[in-house]
Amino acid sequence: MARMMKAAVFEKPKVIAVKQVPVPEIGDDEVLIRVKLTGICGTDWSIYTGKYSADRLPMIAGHEFCGEIEQLGRNAKGLKVGDRVTADINMSCGHCFYCKQGQKLLCPEFLQLGIHIDGTYAEYVKAPWGQVHKIPAKLSFMEAAFIEPVSCVIHSAKAMNAALGSSVAILGSGLGILHGALARLRGCAPVIVIGHNTKRNEIARKMGADHVIDTKQVSDPVAEVKRLTGGRGADYVIESVGTVATYEQAFRMVRAGGQVSAFGITGDKETMAVAPFDLVLHEKKVTSSCAGVGNDWRDAITLIEHGRIDPKPMFSMVVPLEELESALKELRKNPDLIKVFVSPDATKREVL
Ligand SMILES: [Zn+2]
Ligand SMILES: [Zn+2]
Repeated sequence: MARMMKAAVFEKPKVIAVKQVPVPEIGDDEVLIRVKLTGICGTDWSIYTGKYSADRLPMIAGHEFCGEIEQLGRNAKGLKVGDRVTADINMSCGHCFYCKQGQKLLCPEFLQLGIHIDGTYAEYVKAPWGQVHKIPAKLSFMEAAFIEPVSCVIHSAKAMNAALGSSVAILGSGLGILHGALARLRGCAPVIVIGHNTKRNEIARKMGADHVIDTKQVSDPVAEVKRLTGGRGADYVIESVGTVATYEQAFRMVRAGGQVSAFGITGDKETMAVAPFDLVLHEKKVTSSCAGVGNDWRDAITLIEHGRIDPKPMFSMVVPLEELESALKELRKNPDLIKVFVSPDATKREVL
């Protein structure tokens, strides 16, 4: 009989069952990883509600993770049982036009672990050995489970390529906080984070924002960003919310000649109103990024390892796998919670 493990299976929209399922069987090019922690991501909520990946269910979600190598496929090199690891979740065909261009994220057969195929809300997960990253001893399991979101923000920052001394406004105080930390690291000033929750705004400030705009108190954040940037608007504006309204604000608060960085994910049918006149006459530009991939992972590990980014203020709590569904709902209701980790080993929740 197959070896069994505990997993949170997203059966259909709004139904998660924590149950026994077979441990994944690995091929020669794969490794089996014993999962330690998985961070809950907004994407998990979208999968839970059926907004995303509904055609993939039933599926074990979970993609921001770390663990230890349990078993190695025959071809796996440079790894041993017990190594602390995470894995680049992005898989592609390897031979199409985009893969050959080094644009793996655009591959028509692009798949992400825990988003399109079984992921890490379980005791074990399998991954291709070539995508595995070893975790330096200095990183805690929590920091290691946070490498994926940091890699996404790094990918976006590389696409944006902000110049030293340039102003950056960030809409959103979830991963927006991390965008703020990275903008400061790149020598941008002032760094302005726009959010609606006092606790998150405080953390944004602690992690590098020069100014925070609390949208509960400031009715016109566009005017406020202009006020803080010599009346022009910011050199760079990062949209890290994922609503049409905030995307439209982004184009209004970027200065002429400036650049909007698209990061937040809206519904796939939503459209926004942007005046082409404004793009042409004011030479506004857009960069976009969909995930952290390849060397973004190595760079995320390096920046955390060397203390350039300290994500710990964003960590809220650890819950047992059995509480995943309730934690997903709590995250929607309580904006004081930022990153919640799920552990297959925990028996009770731990508030950090
Ligand atoms: Zn994520
Ligand atoms: Zn491809």
